[in-house]
Amino acid sequence: MQQAISSNETKDTLNPCAVSVREVSGIGPRLSELLGKKGISTVEDALYFLPRTYEDRRTITRIADASGSGLFQTFVGTIKSLGMVAYRGSRKRFFKMTICDASGSITAKWFHFNGRSMMVRFKKNDQVILTGQVKLYGSQKEVLHPEIEILEPGEAESPDLKKMLPVYSETEGLPQKTIRRLIKRIVEEYASTLPDGISETMRRRQNLLGLADALTKIHLPAVDDDFDGLAAGTSEAHRRLIFDELFFLQLGLALRKRSLSYDKRKCYDISNNYHDKLKSYLPFELTASQTRAIADIIGDFKKPCPMNRLLQGDVGSGKTIVALLAAIIVIENGCQAAFMAPTEILAEQHYTQVLLYAEKLGLKAVLLTGSGSRSVKEDIYNDIDEGRVDIVIGTHAIIQEKVSFRNLGLAVIDEQHRFGVRQRATLKKKGCNADILIMTATPIPRTLGLTVYGDLDCSVIDELPPGRVKVTTKLYGERDRKKVYDRIAQEIENQRQVFVVYPLVEESEKIDLKNATDMARTLQNEVFPGYRVGLLHGRMSGEEKERIMAHFKGKQLDILVSTTVVEVGIDVPNASLMVIEHAERFGLSQLHQLRGRVGRGEHPSHCILLAHAGSTGDAVRRLKIIEQTTDGFKIAEEDFNIRGPGEFLGVRQSGMPDLRIARALYDVKTLHAARSEAFRLADEDPEMMLPEHHVTRQVLQERWQGKLELADVG
Ligand code: ADP
Ligand code: MG
Repeated sequence: MQQAISSNETKDTLNPCAVSVREVSGIGPRLSELLGKKGISTVEDALYFLPRTYEDRRTITRIADASGSGLFQTFVGTIKSLGMVAYRGSRKRFFKMTICDASGSITAKWFHFNGRSMMVRFKKNDQVILTGQVKLYGSQKEVLHPEIEILEPGEAESPDLKKMLPVYSETEGLPQKTIRRLIKRIVEEYASTLPDGISETMRRRQNLLGLADALTKIHLPAVDDDFDGLAAGTSEAHRRLIFDELFFLQLGLALRKRSLSYDKRKCYDISNNYHDKLKSYLPFELTASQTRAIADIIGDFKKPCPMNRLLQGDVGSGKTIVALLAAIIVIENGCQAAFMAPTEILAEQHYTQVLLYAEKLGLKAVLLTGSGSRSVKEDIYNDIDEGRVDIVIGTHAIIQEKVSFRNLGLAVIDEQHRFGVRQRATLKKKGCNADILIMTATPIPRTLGLTVYGDLDCSVIDELPPGRVKVTTKLYGERDRKKVYDRIAQEIENQRQVFVVYPLVEESEKIDLKNATDMARTLQNEVFPGYRVGLLHGRMSGEEKERIMAHFKGKQLDILVSTTVVEVGIDVPNASLMVIEHAERFGLSQLHQLRGRVGRGEHPSHCILLAHAGSTGDAVRRLKIIEQTTDGFKIAEEDFNIRGPGEFLGVRQSGMPDLRIARALYDVKTLHAARSEAFRLADEDPEMMLPEHHVTRQVLQERWQGKLELADVG
């Protein structure tokens, strides 16, 4: 069903701030080019170019009262002398100024300076205002690299002098004073014309400033504004902008989710005894989390609209069986199910697991990947088309045009981060409003999950099946290499297998980085001539990779040296040791994923993190987190704090608006408020027909720019 909010609709009101900065008086080609370097091309960009900090000039200190407290202090005085001074016995020079007020004098010094421009800018007897941190040497007062500005005659007495000033990120040719002047003009002229997408009712309910007010406070703070809050980005004005950002993000997700629920399908009959049947074949009891996840899915099946659910669970937590239980209900209701995995090997793994039960249940399952002969595939296509197949398991081969389902009811997508929103949509289209179950083993911080997966319902499997061996993790340094090799030998002597992972494929500019290719050779020829060493890396063809992994799985190799391509999902129960070289170069989530490759069988398993000799204290602290915890969510949280949202959002960015204030994602409280308002609005006035929502609707269209159309297909 077509959503009311689509981008090709004509815009009813124009946003007067969507114009080029060239429209602003005083900004010509040169300035606009410089602003462009800062990412500012429109007036709106300029309004959202937020100060990186503030300078507090509200209190002018008498020079005699200057203290060496380390706090920033502001003085007003007259330049008594200025010029370049040579260091004793050196050709290096610094720039020095002596500045006096009625109470005393202070020396300002610059070590990085352009002497000529300093001499042009400043003259003896100029009156200046300067801010900086003072150092006391006896009765001598000194300030290094202060912010300094010349005062016009009379300016020193003006009440305008004592204020908080925004400090923007500068660029060559665009000094602070110029940026300030330009932004001030733009704020004064345009801020009030910017459409405010948060209705007054909502503003009152959430106690929010108006948009123009917030931007004005941020760029042109008044004397009595909250300096600390402004400088920390936590002021009321910032909160308003962050709310705004999160609200429109969530509103898009809410509408996307809502449009999915417009689709209809018959409610599934779940009275069949699938559960007992399949359960009687399972060699284990379901965990409480698995049972809960299935209950969630059954709840969705009872509704007359398709499911869109995310199943999150660490590697080995048993997501496949949950998906299979879901598939069986759908099949018993006369539909087909499809499982889509990102690689052939993962597809085969699922296929093997499904086959264990399918035959006993009298179901027909097929494997569909890129390889295999044409004629066999043609047969499979026919069987799928004519409904002789119940479950199709495969790679993206499943979403090819040639594949058509007789009646696709459920699409299960494994390892979601490899598939974009678009592929999901294509798979969904293969069925008539198919239910979608997405499985991911990539833990994501819970708050971020509300953004990245905000349009999906979510079930979490947060426990591993009982009796699962825990993977012990230990951090080693380069000098322990011999010990690590002994460890590897020991595992292989016990008939186990070992992964050794490297961060890079080939030697590049980072010569100190051991590369997988070299290392595989060394390990084979020099360290372990008696064992079988294989190599796997990202430059290999898909086929080659699959072949090597199959060899390793088939125990034809003892050691698999690999780059991170081994990261996702591969199941080798006999592998009991994972050695990660240059562990300091990996992100925490990635390390966690890698570690998940072992401990998948009944054998006690270990992960060795080898940190390079030059690792920083920070890197070692990060690695300690991995050493100490196996909680994927905790690790994801830490990783997110360290690396920021970019990495996490990258995967779905194409389907979402860009964030202007990345920090917004850390503001949990505002996120929840914005999300609940967004879902409330999507519920109460989804088409935003009420007059007070017209601007909201317009801003939504601008922010999402066509990306919401994906809502139509899921
Ligand atoms: P993942 O969540 O990583 O996809 P899988 O579904 O591949 O995990 O399950 C990993 C292994 O655990 C499989 O061999 C599966 O049969 C087994 N398993 C799943 N659920 C349970 C359970 N409740 N008890 C014991 N073993 C289980
Ligand atoms: Mg899996």
